[in-house]
Amino acid sequence: MTFEEYQQFVEKNVGDKKLDVVFQTLGLCGEAGEVAEKVKKILRDENGVFSDEAKQEIAKELGDVLWYIARAGMEIGVNMEDIVRINVEKLLSRVERGTVFGKGDNR
Ligand SMILES: [Mg+2]
Repeated sequence: MTFEEYQQFVEKNVGDKKLDVVFQTLGLCGEAGEVAEKVKKILRDENGVFSDEAKQEIAKELGDVLWYIARAGMEIGVNMEDIVRINVEKLLSRVERGTVFGKGDNR
């Protein structure tokens, strides 16, 4: 499935309820927290060893993050293809300028 196809899947399955970008952003943060919580527990309880089952559970939560990325983007008129393109352009520019590591969002 391409990012464009995923975007179409999300658009078909958003439901009728109007939920704005603030709601989607809160969902994104919540799901990112679920990823962090699962990783934390593996570090605490499993000596940092990720079982196949744990990897699958984390992958599910990363998918939830992806959903909210798509939804937040939709609310401001930016689709998944745009998000991926903008991110790749930003990272390639940092690589070319030798600023991959450092401080600041716009380095
Ligand atoms: Mg979740």
